[in-house]
Amino acid sequence: MIDFSKIKGKIYFDGKFIDTKKAKIHVLNHSLHFAASVFEGIAIYNNKPLFEKDHFKRFINSAKILRLNLNIGNKKFSEINRYLIKKNKTINGYIRPILYRSTHSMSPDTTHCKSCLAIATWSWGTLFSKKAISLDISRWPKLNKKIFPIQAKSSGSYQSSVIARIESKKNGYDDCLMLDTNGLISETTACNIFWIKNNQLYTPKTDSALNGITRQAVIKISRKLGIKVNVGNYKLNNILKADTVFLTGTAAELQLVNNLKRKRFNIENPIYLNMKKYYDKIKFKTPQSVDGI
Ligand code: PMP
Repeated sequence: MIDFSKIKGKIYFDGKFIDTKKAKIHVLNHSLHFAASVFEGIAIYNNKPLFEKDHFKRFINSAKILRLNLNIGNKKFSEINRYLIKKNKTINGYIRPILYRSTHSMSPDTTHCKSCLAIATWSWGTLFSKKAISLDISRWPKLNKKIFPIQAKSSGSYQSSVIARIESKKNGYDDCLMLDTNGLISETTACNIFWIKNNQLYTPKTDSALNGITRQAVIKISRKLGIKVNVGNYKLNNILKADTVFLTGTAAELQLVNNLKRKRFNIENPIYLNMKKYYDKIKFKTPQSVDGI
């Protein structure tokens, strides 16, 4: 178990590199109370960030949606990341940029709030340290982009994910599948979902799910491997008939699911194993964007 307030090294905090233990915000911080910060999660392999350009693009877009100001460009972002990776000796790990509001309001009115940027790096393995995980089905729906800014990677969109994860762990599962308000398959608490049926790949549209960068990479890899990719609206009985189910995410990479509510899946599928092998090769080449695969 890591206490993240105790990780060693430096953090980029309001324009300066300071000791991690000193990177503190006040308890009357606006984003803590009103859940409107945006963040990213970028993997580091062999001292280099993977898909850094795509993550930066999504970070800017999330900031725009939440009306936060990100006043650095891609070049500066990349320079800060490289400095932190070197200084913190993060060989394989994670970069967490977060953009949040200052302490100049205690209501949803943000007129006088400033946007503050912090960036941290730390050494990390994969999210689930298991070959295959179990999934519950959450009673909490993922909201649609028409009624919630789902495409922003924002703290607010993790509220239901946090409760859903607590409940699924209590029910004896590692994580859970979340459906949308129409009962269509969306994603899990922090990953996109895919399944293989009769040698074809299936994944939901991103109307009620984050358009994960690992998701985009897996779609590209599958097409390169000649696997037909189907992106659509799917109901629970579609996934329950799957041969193999897996999740994708920056920290989870490609993560097998061995059962969904006790319905078991094949975890030795050669199609999956081939895709995983391809991804594992790509990740150490650290292309700056999915286009570079
Ligand atoms: N959905 C959610 C809700 C997530 O938190 C994540 C992790 N960022 C993903 C999907 C996967 O996104 P990515 O592949 O960009 O990490």
